[in-house]
Amino acid sequence: MKIIENLNHIRNQISVAEKRFKRRESSVCLLAVSKTRSADEIMAAVNGGQHHFGENYCQEAVEKINAIDHPDLIWHFIGPIQSNKTSQIACHFDWVHTIDRLKIARRLNEMRPKDLAPLNICVQINISGEDSKAGITLDNTDDFIAELEQFKRLKVRGLMSLPAPASNFDEQRIPFSILKRKLEELSLSRPELDTLSIGTTQDMTAAIAEGATIVRIGTALFGSRNATKQTN
Ligand SMILES: *Cc1c(COP(=O)(O)O)cnc(C)c1O
Repeated sequence: MKIIENLNHIRNQISVAEKRFKRRESSVCLLAVSKTRSADEIMAAVNGGQHHFGENYCQEAVEKINAIDHPDLIWHFIGPIQSNKTSQIACHFDWVHTIDRLKIARRLNEMRPKDLAPLNICVQINISGEDSKAGITLDNTDDFIAELEQFKRLKVRGLMSLPAPASNFDEQRIPFSILKRKLEELSLSRPELDTLSIGTTQDMTAAIAEGATIVRIGTALFGSRNATKQTN
């Protein structure tokens, strides 16, 4: 099966990058980005030992999560969040990577079921300053994280970003290195901040070089996506 082959190839690339950049062994978590993929494709990866999955579209994700109904899987929401979807997200996910508005955080906090652990969240940074992209600015990060600390049903874990595409390895490292420094600075006073969610199929190795603890990989694992098949 191609998905298993791809999975093993990516794991090997992660392991090689960990050694090359003096990262601790197994310190980089592979998040399989399964947006637009079927429950069967997800199950193929599960059978290869994959447990962390990332989804962007709430309705599609909840249907698959319910259909698969597997106790060992860890679901990460990595898409833009509409306020009318916060209840579903708070009930069905373990992580949310795309927090950039207090209002959304407040709703997730209110709606996180009491029988579940606090929801792990990452603050999304718009590191390349693109108008089209979600995320807060680097300058606002400290204040925003301080505000998030009022929400007891959320557990702030770190930073997430999706920089503008860069043409080569050294260019790819630049925004990642800025994020790494920011996380290091924040974690001096908040040791529970241990997560840097950076790197996709295009720039995974540069992200690992700069301290990624979660890489979000879709295309390299499942093949290229059909761009027309996207619903919320
Ligand atoms: C789709 C997506 C990915 C995966 O990108 P690939 O290039 O397919 O690896 C990672 N992060 C986010 C936020 C995404 O939306």
